[in-house]
Amino acid sequence: MNLKISALEYVEQVKNGDISAEDFVSSSIDRIKNVDDKLHAFLQVNSKAVEHAQQIDKKIKSGEKVGQCFGMPISIKDNICIKHSKTTCASKMLEKFTAPYDATVISKLKQEDAIFVGKANMDEFAMGLTTEFSAYGPSKNPWNTDYVPGGSSGGSAVSVSAFECIASLGSDTGGSVRNPASFCSVVGFKPTYGLISRFGLISYANSIEQIGPITRTVKDTAFLLNILSGLDSNDNTTIENGNQDYLADIDSGIEGKKIGIIQEMMGEGIDPSVLSATNDAVSKLEGLGAVCEKVSIDMVKYSVASYYTITATEAGSNLARYDNLRYGYEFPVEGFEFNSYISKARAKFGPEVIRRMILGGFVPSAGHAGKYFLKALKVKSKLTKEVKDAFKKFDYLIAPTVPVLPFKLGEKIDDPIALFLVDINTVMSNLSGIPSISVPFSISNGLPIGIQLLANHGEDKSLLQAAKALESTVNLPEVPI
Ligand code: GLN
Repeated sequence: MNLKISALEYVEQVKNGDISAEDFVSSSIDRIKNVDDKLHAFLQVNSKAVEHAQQIDKKIKSGEKVGQCFGMPISIKDNICIKHSKTTCASKMLEKFTAPYDATVISKLKQEDAIFVGKANMDEFAMGLTTEFSAYGPSKNPWNTDYVPGGSSGGSAVSVSAFECIASLGSDTGGSVRNPASFCSVVGFKPTYGLISRFGLISYANSIEQIGPITRTVKDTAFLLNILSGLDSNDNTTIENGNQDYLADIDSGIEGKKIGIIQEMMGEGIDPSVLSATNDAVSKLEGLGAVCEKVSIDMVKYSVASYYTITATEAGSNLARYDNLRYGYEFPVEGFEFNSYISKARAKFGPEVIRRMILGGFVPSAGHAGKYFLKALKVKSKLTKEVKDAFKKFDYLIAPTVPVLPFKLGEKIDDPIALFLVDINTVMSNLSGIPSISVPFSISNGLPIGIQLLANHGEDKSLLQAAKALESTVNLPEVPI
């Protein structure tokens, strides 16, 4: 069974009876059994996946109406709720938590007959960018298992890159879909804020985060966006998708489009191979008729500081519910003072989550809020204004997704500031709410480089067209696993 086909090819082949959902899903589960010891993309594998595929084959044979996914195997980041399944956020805190309901994205995929092959590994509560902060051990980069796969949706990106499934859902608060997509050479998309419902996504910093698809092709992302986007009465931050068909006209190209090259993401701290890949991407886009020019977005220099201040504050309040009383693990209250009880309960969090919670308690507190939290919000609005102004002149912006190549496991784990800085190119679109996508572009010393394209608020469809154009210029080797 060829597991390397795209989502759209899968649909065609099952529809035409060339392959069965059962055969494909069984092969996908076998692949997970064969390679996941080395990669650790999965925290749990769905033991009912093949049975479910058989039911879909039956539906097809009997001529019943079948959903658009036709039994396509998809992995789901473990912070997205699937009813009656464990949802751990890769934390010991939620080790025994079973979701009581489906996230909206899950209901939508179920309705379209997708099959969930398993829950994907991640940094604990989505805090991190290497998957090393998972309480259950890191995922490994399939291009070289000594290297990090990126994060926090590392398991999702690994599972798609290593052909363990066709697509995945991750969440992106500051780059967590795009960063691992770049490190694993797959497509990662963060939509305009509100385009995909967050209902059933366990919150980290809900004012800026979005669920996003990870796929092997840009068209597959458009296919999933058709299913996932739209208003949801359970999430009042969602916006209309205007009944857009994201697949239609995806090949329109970028002739005559204006692209701004973000200067603040092309200088200090950038790996030379990443810089030259980005320049190469610019030339390729010019070759397709785009007009590329430098643009400066000054506030980028404060964006990481603003991002970590805002997210720590929101995380501090979102994670306050894990007090062992409402969620968590079991030990009785007898014999404890309130504070010692809560500290014992919270000790179940890993070091990165604890760091963020301490920061999140401090920065918005009385006497400090003006200096930190309110200042961070000011940077956010100034940045958003600069981004909006840039789109008065440009249709798209371009930058490397990540300024550096994937690094070795353990290399930066003890240096939080160095890790935070790796997010410099991705947090801007979360803070300003605009869509952005990482497209696999090249391989340097056996390690992937992704290029990020960004568009104005609500221009997701046009962004996918540009991404498709960029994708058409590359021909990458296959993952060596
Ligand atoms: N690395 C960033 C953080 O730790 C991004 C995480 C994310 O997008 N979930 O917060």
